[in-house]
Amino acid sequence: MKMFGTNGIRGIANEDMGPELALQVGKAIGSVLGEGPVAIATDPRTSSPMIKCAVCSGLMATGIDIVDLGIIPTPALQYHVKTHADVKGGVMITASHNPPQYNGIKCIAEDGTEFTKEQESMVEDAYDTVIKCVPWDRIGRMTSIDGAGEAYIDAVISHVDVDAIKKARLKIVLDCSNGAACETTPMMMRKLGVDATLLNCVMDGTFPGHESEPIESNLTELIDITGRTDAVVGMAHDGDADRCVFVSGSGRYLPGDLSLALIAQHKVMVNGGGKVYAPVSTSSTVKDVVESSGGEFHYTAVGSPIVARAMMENNGIFGGEDNGGLIFPEHQYCRDGAMGMASILEIIAKEGDLDDLISKMPRYHSLKLTVRCPDEKKRIVAERIAQVAEGDVDTTDGVRIDYDDGWVLIRASGTEPKFRIYSESSDEILMKERSEHYRGLIERFVDE
Ligand code: MG
Repeated sequence: MKMFGTNGIRGIANEDMGPELALQVGKAIGSVLGEGPVAIATDPRTSSPMIKCAVCSGLMATGIDIVDLGIIPTPALQYHVKTHADVKGGVMITASHNPPQYNGIKCIAEDGTEFTKEQESMVEDAYDTVIKCVPWDRIGRMTSIDGAGEAYIDAVISHVDVDAIKKARLKIVLDCSNGAACETTPMMMRKLGVDATLLNCVMDGTFPGHESEPIESNLTELIDITGRTDAVVGMAHDGDADRCVFVSGSGRYLPGDLSLALIAQHKVMVNGGGKVYAPVSTSSTVKDVVESSGGEFHYTAVGSPIVARAMMENNGIFGGEDNGGLIFPEHQYCRDGAMGMASILEIIAKEGDLDDLISKMPRYHSLKLTVRCPDEKKRIVAERIAQVAEGDVDTTDGVRIDYDDGWVLIRASGTEPKFRIYSESSDEILMKERSEHYRGLIERFVDE
């Protein structure tokens, strides 16, 4: 059975994500890993303890010992797994940015990265079998440890210039979306000497402040307070704090491609060059600033584990996605919200005001739209598009057509019967014309 989506197994608690499923997933993970201990952590969702207990029960039934790290961000669990040689894997109970009724199970490999597609398929295959439980004297044990969150924060700040940040005496506004980072990220701000006004920094799995997806429409309070006060930046996490987004001192919400570009530029300048990776759907702003600062920019297929893997294999110095998922290889090969925030604080301390830095970046007109297409026709429609496309065609992920002034990406949705069309250009009219042109082509090929 296909269970894993782009970010683990997700569903509505006690509807498609109930204790029976979680128990069998736990047994399946245990049978795939074969040995423990396995570290487990959760976000503060109301269903997290129930799902955690069921997963742990399944793991222990297959003889796996458990180390319970409590409620901490996903990257904090990943960091613990990566830095503890005896720990053979991790499980995070979270539905990231989804509404409070959802929950999910995410599997972490021994090196702290997300399970590969192959490892996920092995869990799916095992799920459909009768998994044997071990005899009573080999049942896994469970221990809890405190302090994984603080060890993670100490590692994060070891990668930035703490003295420069302290000296800048920064005032910020921090919104933890009532999620998993409510203790760790305010702790990081204290350790960095940052004066943080806290919003939604009490853990609450009903997400009373706002929905936990860190998009502009959910962050009106953060935007308002950052703009109105003398704070130099506003910062927000999603529910499990693997992502972070920013609001400039003037109260402007920064789309994720701008924070990606800001940090990429900083990394390339400090490093004196280097390779940066991001998916084919990423704004050319990132490519432009990386290249003009003396770095190399490379596109990958969509998905943060794919970006992380490309960085690992090619010695990339930085990478990420335009949804606030930023990957710092000196720390770990996964999206890391606290690391993104620490990095932006360092940039402000050393390079100055975000509004000024952003005003110097090239910007493009862009549009995203969707066109319906039955799942069974997606492949043939994509092939037809690639055949008729005029321009520089790249099929790393979907069909991307590059022009002198911009690009178009046509990509089938992995979860819904539709195509997404992304168009970006320095010329607004061309950008719109191309969106319409490819929308028309997809509609025609669907009907053929
Ligand atoms: Mg997340």
